[in-house]
Amino acid sequence: MVDLYSDTQTRPTAGMREAMAKAVVGDEQSGDDPTTNALCERTAALLGMEAAVFMPSGTMCNLVAILTQTRAGDEIVVDASSHIYNTEGASAAAIGGVSTKPLTTENGVFTAEQAEAAIRPPARTAPRSALVSVENTTAFSGGSVWPLEAVRAVRDVAKRHGLIAHMDGARLLNAVAATGISAADYVDGFDTAWIDLSKGLGCPVGAVLCGTKDFIVEAWRWKYRLGGAMRQSGVLAAAGLYALDHHVDQLKVDNDNALALDHGLRAIEGVEIAAPTQSNILRFSVEALGVPEADFAKACLERGVRFRATGAHEIRATTHLDVDRAGVERAIAAAREVAASLG
Ligand SMILES: *Cc1c(COP(=O)(O)O)cnc(C)c1O
Repeated sequence: MVDLYSDTQTRPTAGMREAMAKAVVGDEQSGDDPTTNALCERTAALLGMEAAVFMPSGTMCNLVAILTQTRAGDEIVVDASSHIYNTEGASAAAIGGVSTKPLTTENGVFTAEQAEAAIRPPARTAPRSALVSVENTTAFSGGSVWPLEAVRAVRDVAKRHGLIAHMDGARLLNAVAATGISAADYVDGFDTAWIDLSKGLGCPVGAVLCGTKDFIVEAWRWKYRLGGAMRQSGVLAAAGLYALDHHVDQLKVDNDNALALDHGLRAIEGVEIAAPTQSNILRFSVEALGVPEADFAKACLERGVRFRATGAHEIRATTHLDVDRAGVERAIAAAREVAASLG
């Protein structure tokens, strides 16, 4: 099976499992797990930030960043296709009493002007604009890589208005692989940023949230309250360290494979690529075939290729370390067959 459903479908490699088995561990909740501490230091250094905290998920990174840096009645500015807005169970509202202002964009990349227009002037009657989140790369809008100038312009607008600048960097290292711009350059001047270990990096679980030392002290309170404090988490952190040593170069291969998939799919009659492929995620439409995208995806699955019908007349494909170039070729062949038989 060629599983292009998501880069969350990666399985820990033999080397990663070995690193996990050998991990030196302690009690994370008391700050005594050396492997987790090493992962936090390593990630903070990678992002050029003072400190970090290990989290069970990226979802908790976003939530803790929001809860720590806002208060009930605040409003946060995000892209309308963002993970925060669509797939975190409205946690900012449900747990923090924080509302969300979504910006409409083509590809998940909004402009500084849009951010500025969304920031409310202080008023007794209005929510208090408190935080702007940049998702780099974008997930649901198809792996767009934010241009560095756009990141910085949004950051500068946020800072000028006294807002927190947060980066959802679930796939920040895919952006790094695509552009050669360092993670530290991308998040320079941001208050908080995080990377996911369980996407393209191939770990079974985990994400690392970074910020100032003072921020991390407060973030720990929320991590604990939300039930995110762990014990011998070094077993998990060892997977993260292994991934940073061995799987970062793979992200470039993943991005290249997505581009090869893009080129192959483009050549198929009735298949239309929705947006230029910039990293490891691509979106395409089969509307021209006149069949529901779920039917197209199902027929591909019967041929051993798993795409993700997103329900928005589109199909998403995500490359990762468990899909090699031969897998990409098989996916293209399956799509070609299905297009011919359904079209
Ligand atoms: C996957 C993802 C998250 C959430 O991360 P989990 O580790 O799955 O909780 C947040 N933001 C983006 C952009 C993502 O792709």
